[in-house]
Amino acid sequence: MNLKVVKFGGSSLADAKQITKAAEIIKSDERRRFVVPSAPGKRFSADIKVTDMLYNCNNLAMENKNIENAFSAIAERYNGIINDLGIELSLDSEFETIKKNITAKAGSEYAASRGEYLNGIIIAKLLDYEFIDAAEVIVFNEDGSFNNEKTQPKLRARLKGVERAVIPGFYGADVNGVVRTFSRGGSDVTGSIIASAVKADVYENWTDVSGFLVADPRIVEKPKAISVITYKELRELAYMGASVLHEDAIFPVRAAGIPINIRNTNIPEDAGTMIVSEVPDDEHSKYTITGIAGKKGFAAINIEKAMMNSELGFCRKVLTVLENNGISIEHMPSGIDTLSLIFPYSQIEGREDEVIAQIRKAVAPDQIELESGIAMLAVVGRGMRRTRGTAARIFASMAHARINVKMIDQGSSELNVIIGIGEADFDEAIRKIYDMFINSVE
Ligand code: ASP
Repeated sequence: MNLKVVKFGGSSLADAKQITKAAEIIKSDERRRFVVPSAPGKRFSADIKVTDMLYNCNNLAMENKNIENAFSAIAERYNGIINDLGIELSLDSEFETIKKNITAKAGSEYAASRGEYLNGIIIAKLLDYEFIDAAEVIVFNEDGSFNNEKTQPKLRARLKGVERAVIPGFYGADVNGVVRTFSRGGSDVTGSIIASAVKADVYENWTDVSGFLVADPRIVEKPKAISVITYKELRELAYMGASVLHEDAIFPVRAAGIPINIRNTNIPEDAGTMIVSEVPDDEHSKYTITGIAGKKGFAAINIEKAMMNSELGFCRKVLTVLENNGISIEHMPSGIDTLSLIFPYSQIEGREDEVIAQIRKAVAPDQIELESGIAMLAVVGRGMRRTRGTAARIFASMAHARINVKMIDQGSSELNVIIGIGEADFDEAIRKIYDMFINSVE
């Protein structure tokens, strides 16, 4: 029998109705033996996640304010879930302990972690699975970073012989037993760590979308879902703003060669997206590209100087100025006598003149200007390696739409093409690329 670790996100567990859907999914496949829940998320768009309610309680406690009302609202949410599920369970003594600890300033990480802890107890009871407190098995260092070397043997030893268990996401404890959390959305990371410890065949991550889409649905109407994506492609897209999964969730399963399957709790019949290390060469996708994503808010410093290319150390001097100013560049397209440096505008905001003056002093350029309002698009696809003319097609689609391409950069892995355009052209550029690579293939 093979084994699945299944993680359910906050919207999949927001109330009894959602939890029932999750339980049905778990029960429908006996390989789903280890369950990692988030805290109850939003039930409707104006709702507040339990995690945020807990952070709020902690803030009140830190200001020496009474948390009675704020905490009651949290207890009510859990009691509502317990009632609606019709299970025999009282969390009253847990509530008392948590309230006391938050009031005694146990801190924000402890407070936030109780969202998944309590939800875990409820779900374990509902499923009749063993409950394992993540503080027992997920180890953090004293500085708050995760310690994988200590966690893996601990987890393996604890789970040995355990048939089925619920292990709450998002937190663990440091070597002194102090509760620590991952950054927001960190239950994804817990699921991945557990999947790697038990050598799961697949890590299922259940959420409220049917996997990754080729493009942002707010920009492209009904974009196609991505059925298979590699970890590398995902990194490129995630870096450029596509998000479904916590970034740190990739590494543990990737190292263990375990695929992640993103699934939709509300539409369990959808196959979702498979994230894999490698796709066999003969399993070509129908499309050259896998996805398109992008980010706004970039700026460029454009420098011109005659004979720049023969001036020894020119780039280094410019880069040193940026480094000294804490500016981290993302791209550096260059010509014979020109050089552009592209970075997030926020890194230079308020210090524009100062930085330009320093570059002038360092390399005495003929011309230098700062251009803001730049967007970067990543067109990502493992299929590019076996296809000719991808960049040409991107250019053609931009030219058709009269969109000026400020820069283009093809990664050496031939996995992506990055283009820089004006922010105003952002949506249209994505639509045109989607048309060119997806619609025209239909
Ligand atoms: N509940 C935590 C959060 O809201 C962690 C998670 O859901 O993954 O960030």
